[in-house]
Amino acid sequence: MASHIVGYPRMGPKRELKFALESFWDGKSSAEDLQKVAADLRASIWKQMANAGIKYIPSNTFSYYDQVLDATATLGAVPQRYGWTGGEIGFDTYFSMARGNATVPAMEMTKWFDTNYHFIVPELGPDVNFTYSSHKAVDEYKEAKALGVDSVPVLVGPVTYLLLSKPAKGVEKTFNLLSLLPKVLAVYKEVIADLKAAGASWIQFDEPTLVLDLESHKLQAFTDAYAELAPALSGLNVLIETYFADVPAEAYKTLTSLNGVTAYGFDLVRGTKTLDLIKGGFPSGKYLFAGVVDGRNIWANDLASSLATLQGLEGVVGKDKLVVSTSSSLLHTAVDLVNETKLDDEIKSWLAFAAQKIVEVNALAKALSGNKDEAFFSANAAAQASRKSSPRVTNEAVQKAAAALKGSDHRRATNVSARLDAQQKKLNLPILPTTTIGSFPQTVELRRVRREFKANKISEEEYVKSIKEEIQKVVQLQEELDIDVLVHGEPERNDMVEYFGEQLSGFAFTVNGWVQSYGSRCVKPPIIYGDVSRPKPMTVFWSSVAQSFTKRPMKGMLTGPVTILNWSFVRNDQPRSETTYQIALAIKDEVEDLEKAGITVIQIDEAALREGLPLRKSEQADYLDWAVHSFRITNVGVLDTTQIHTHMCYSNFNDIIHSIINMDADVITIENSRSDEKLLSVFREGVKYGAGIGPGVYDIHSPRIPPTEEIADRINKMLAVLEKNILWVNPDCGLKTRKYTEVKPALTNMVAAAKLIRNEL
Ligand code: GLN
Ligand code: ZN
Repeated sequence: MASHIVGYPRMGPKRELKFALESFWDGKSSAEDLQKVAADLRASIWKQMANAGIKYIPSNTFSYYDQVLDATATLGAVPQRYGWTGGEIGFDTYFSMARGNATVPAMEMTKWFDTNYHFIVPELGPDVNFTYSSHKAVDEYKEAKALGVDSVPVLVGPVTYLLLSKPAKGVEKTFNLLSLLPKVLAVYKEVIADLKAAGASWIQFDEPTLVLDLESHKLQAFTDAYAELAPALSGLNVLIETYFADVPAEAYKTLTSLNGVTAYGFDLVRGTKTLDLIKGGFPSGKYLFAGVVDGRNIWANDLASSLATLQGLEGVVGKDKLVVSTSSSLLHTAVDLVNETKLDDEIKSWLAFAAQKIVEVNALAKALSGNKDEAFFSANAAAQASRKSSPRVTNEAVQKAAAALKGSDHRRATNVSARLDAQQKKLNLPILPTTTIGSFPQTVELRRVRREFKANKISEEEYVKSIKEEIQKVVQLQEELDIDVLVHGEPERNDMVEYFGEQLSGFAFTVNGWVQSYGSRCVKPPIIYGDVSRPKPMTVFWSSVAQSFTKRPMKGMLTGPVTILNWSFVRNDQPRSETTYQIALAIKDEVEDLEKAGITVIQIDEAALREGLPLRKSEQADYLDWAVHSFRITNVGVLDTTQIHTHMCYSNFNDIIHSIINMDADVITIENSRSDEKLLSVFREGVKYGAGIGPGVYDIHSPRIPPTEEIADRINKMLAVLEKNILWVNPDCGLKTRKYTEVKPALTNMVAAAKLIRNEL
């Protein structure tokens, strides 16, 4: 019985790749240094899987930034503005596309399906000259082979690549991306030939778009593409991998009829309906890669239950055609539980990170072939049982309070325009008020202070003094810049979810449970294992300190319940809505305590509301309903004069704009600048929006400093579709990953742009 891993985290167990990348970007180390760290990481991952007994070990799942950008490099689809003139794509061109450079902004970045991973969106027009320009896939295959591992090279599938692309500037409305399929396939054929020549016997195409609601011409593209590739693929075993949801019935039919394909991979954790499809008919003689080990969460697999599922599938596809696999790439889970020194043994026994999941996959494969490791299975069964019965998981009062919320609507009594009037009387803001999203740069010094306080190396007194000084500095800077609504800069927070999770009960924390978010950026999601409650105020002290330094309004800064949920590893033993309502009640208490402390503007970030949206349309309305309801619960109890802001990250708001309005916030700041005019088009098309809105006027993900004229230009474009009295001026997102040398000039230009336009109005 065989085992397979869809993909593996790249950052390393202690984020080795992150540090190597950042040091290279800062000019502190050479390209060779970076390549060495990367090669060592790849080698250790391959060895780890080989030692665990995994049969189908992936290669080319490593990336210096993003696997979709890697595909763009392979295809030589570099947008013209990066000045690439051909040849093998090097770090210069590659990282310019990813991060921008001194003269050209980065390419657009967006969420990878419903994960918190971001990919670089390919920009394709009719005149892209596709040429085989990165040999990374075959290089990695050879590299693994030299280490004694005959790997399965993984490529982003050609149809998924095109379906995730966007039309280049100038042809947005007219261009049919799928018309590029023949040109793209020509390069894929070269890659395939290269892999074959290098000795590959399997190849994996990731085609996760097959789990979306696709129109029939898109499904047809899969049929066409693989028919076209079939001759090139002959002699290879071809795995088409899907993940993140069940495959709709129509797509299942298309998929299982593809030419030249020998194996299909399915997510059987999120895709329970796929199980029925498989049982209803699976092509004979083909392999089923059964993703029973969850790539998206950190819970130990329920091995007994997975084994039963697998045994059922054996009857359908045949014993020798069933391969045990992960539900998706393990990229979306933490790396290795071995490095968790602070979790207690009980909680640890409930968990499995990527390294442990490999072992689970192998244990299941062995059990199927009659070599069940009884000790491993019974330890697993004991852990499953302890999690079900542990008193640490249950808080009855919280469960009751959350259950009571479901029936009602929870809405502020006054409508938004009346509230804005009341707030304006109190706040007296200029037109086009300026603000920022919350965090200011986190300097090395600041991180040191937090770290030393955590490690008890400095006293609470010293810590409070340092943080106060930092807040004062940030407040003073904002006053100098003449920003209207200030923030305290979040110096006491390492992460917008972790900070709250640490103060709420029901959460556990890892030391090294990092997951890649984009490029070198990682997040360390808390683990929600039990019912959530708030023992005491979490932010009131620091917000009051910050307000005491200024007469201008100081925003209280909270993370909303949906974002806390979506950026945590969540319980898989109760519905997500249940957990979110519990968090909403805790945040509600915090909002009311801030108001009592004299904070009149409170921002409740729902950065991740959009990304939790289920992939399939049939499930979206229900999610939006409880997500938006949870947000409203947090601030239903405040006065009209208290201004509630919210902030959301990333593009593609258009389809949920009515839910955003239904959140009933007074002001929303939205990330916008990397997705051009998508957001504005929704207002152009007549959606009525009465609340304050600040579509970000510059991209904080890039070190580039936006000139005043460019920002002014953006504001003017917004004014063409939005009323001037509701428009706010702010960056796209928090500034914590930037340097002061970038933030000061950028904000100077932002305020100058706002003033320039105020004068013209
Ligand atoms: N308030 C947070 C910050 O500024 C928001 C971050 C986010 O939206 N991702 O850091
Ligand atoms: Zn943001």
